[in-house]
Amino acid sequence: MKKLFVTGGAGFIGSAFIRVALEELPECEIVNFDALTYAGNPDNLIGLDGRRHRFIRGDIADRAAVIGALEPDTDAIVNFAAESHVDRSIASADEFLRTNVIGTQVLLDAARARGVQRFLQVSTDEVMGSLPEDERAFFTEASPYAPNSPYAASKAAAEHLVRAAHHTFGLDTVITRCGNNYGPRQFPEKLIPLAIANAMSDEPIPVYGDGQNVRDWIYVDDHCRAILRVLQRGRSGEIYNIGARNERRNLEVVEAILEALGKPRSLIKFVKDRPGHDRRYAIDPTKVETELAWRPRETWESGLEKTIRWYVENQEWVERARSGAYREYYARQYGME
Ligand code: NAD
Repeated sequence: MKKLFVTGGAGFIGSAFIRVALEELPECEIVNFDALTYAGNPDNLIGLDGRRHRFIRGDIADRAAVIGALEPDTDAIVNFAAESHVDRSIASADEFLRTNVIGTQVLLDAARARGVQRFLQVSTDEVMGSLPEDERAFFTEASPYAPNSPYAASKAAAEHLVRAAHHTFGLDTVITRCGNNYGPRQFPEKLIPLAIANAMSDEPIPVYGDGQNVRDWIYVDDHCRAILRVLQRGRSGEIYNIGARNERRNLEVVEAILEALGKPRSLIKFVKDRPGHDRRYAIDPTKVETELAWRPRETWESGLEKTIRWYVENQEWVERARSGAYREYYARQYGME
């Protein structure tokens, strides 16, 4: 892989992926195509090697812009660009359909038009819905689609379009599905950075419902190394579930953060549950482990420690991300100033 076209590379996971790919593929150049929505942050690109990384501001649903930016010698498109927050999709699904569905189709068409070798779609375990709290149930690549939120439905639709491009046009596609990521540079509307940021400034931490919802957490760089492995060696047309076998209840996650920061449990504030809130996600990563010999490097403890340290050492990043429109969103979402 010499030239990658990465979309959404100014976001949380996309920017981590660019760092990992530039490090692991010394010959590789990356074009980073990102619309810089509220979640895209140019600060996330600070320190990247300007000789091998080029940023282009653009919208994946804009056909002419995509075609114009996609160079014919591109080896692969890696599609991270998405509206990614479930709560926002409940408030309005419009942008989710435009970016996640139409944008994916535009990229697939552009890949064919430009003769791009491989297309990797970054997807989510949420396309498979919610699991019972029975510990023996896990998502596998064969689990049926059962998306429960507008966000998950838009990501499931995107997977169908990727599948169709493979089946109908023979495009070389792969899909990765991951659980909840955590790590540096995550927009503080998501649970872990929100809890860290609020705890650091002694503000209450909103926790939905009874806090017993289970998520399967993975450190972002581990996810990115798995994506790279699938990009290089995954079988065409296949789906790979990526997970670190790390199920945690939301309340347990917040308590671990408070403990690490030496803050009181009284900062936890239970708020009205999210409508249709999925109870449990849990991924069986056997396929990516056995076929592609991928394993996570971080444990939950080491990953969380690194993550908290990053936010403590980068409080300016946090404050910039939490200024302006974020404040309005936060007050509306949780009824808290
Ligand atoms: P993010 O919200 O931090 O970043 C999304 C990026 O996409 C931003 O930089 C934004 O500017 C860009 N973008 C949005 N609309 C665009 C458009 N129309 N054209 C071009 N760029 C656009 O999201 P993230 O958490 O980094 O997630 C990245 C991908 O991984 C998404 O596809 C998401 O569905 C998937 N995913 C995320 C998680 C998670 O835990 N965060 C888990 C599984 C899968």
